[in-house]
Amino acid sequence: MTPLRAAVDEATDRLAGAGVPTPRVDAVLLAGHVLGLDRGEVERALLLGRELSDDARTRLVDLVDERARRVPLQHLTGVAGFRRLELAVGPGVFVPRPETELLIDLGLAALRGSSQRSAHADRRSHHVRERGPVVVDLCTGSGALALAAADEIPGARVVAVELSEEALAWARHNVERTGLPVEVVQADAGAAPAAVPHLADLLGAVDLVLSNPPYIPDSAVPIDPEVAEHDPQIALYGRSADGLAVPRAVAATAARLLSPDGVLVMEHADTQGETLPEALNATGVWSEVTDHRDLAGKPRALSARRIGA
Ligand code: GLN
Repeated sequence: MTPLRAAVDEATDRLAGAGVPTPRVDAVLLAGHVLGLDRGEVERALLLGRELSDDARTRLVDLVDERARRVPLQHLTGVAGFRRLELAVGPGVFVPRPETELLIDLGLAALRGSSQRSAHADRRSHHVRERGPVVVDLCTGSGALALAAADEIPGARVVAVELSEEALAWARHNVERTGLPVEVVQADAGAAPAAVPHLADLLGAVDLVLSNPPYIPDSAVPIDPEVAEHDPQIALYGRSADGLAVPRAVAATAARLLSPDGVLVMEHADTQGETLPEALNATGVWSEVTDHRDLAGKPRALSARRIGA
């Protein structure tokens, strides 16, 4: 037996030495993974002077070795938190990031704005809106944005689109795991949606498109080894010098899917807070193109309304 505290301290030092940005949090979470405890429960066990069995200690040391080699924490625990959900992740799928959670707030705000507009129009036409909103997530990866939308937007019909076979398997797994009603479709989000059976039915009928597309400029190499070596390349690079080829193609698909007044909410790099809005404005099909900052104060996402017919 070893005191848990000694094992966590040792793990923290090891991870700090390997350049892991949050060594103590990671050490605590890995100990929690071994013991079947959440972060708060590990802290309590530390205060109570709990001991670690030799077997648990060996398992912790092995996980810490991997984390010191900069395998993402989420690959080791097998899960990533996103909004109210815990999603399964691992090799072959992009690990959802906290900054992407902003897109759900922007989407919720956009739908409230849209329902005020249509309530106004409905009062004039004596029309009653019967259905919940239709939401499409382009480049869903693990399913994070689509599942959070299904979880948080009452009555929504949610369709998730992903090209990568490996990522699709994770997205489907997460649909099962959460039990949320998301339809998963394999397609290139930048291709004409009219050619994709499931999407062809949705042309002009979608209220909200959410997307965290790959947008890193081709020449930029992500600094963190967790990203550069473990996130799939297809989820990172925007396939052009400025990284905007994929985001532009995704916006073009969104323009075909959205109903008049429908809204696109899309993530971008902190260096693209002016170039991506400019690119959308230049197409002439978007109004109210607005850029938003993340909690770190960096330009992170745009919202834009499809100009009505
Ligand atoms: N945000 C990613 C990163 O931090 C970049 C790609 C993306 O999210 N679409 O590496």
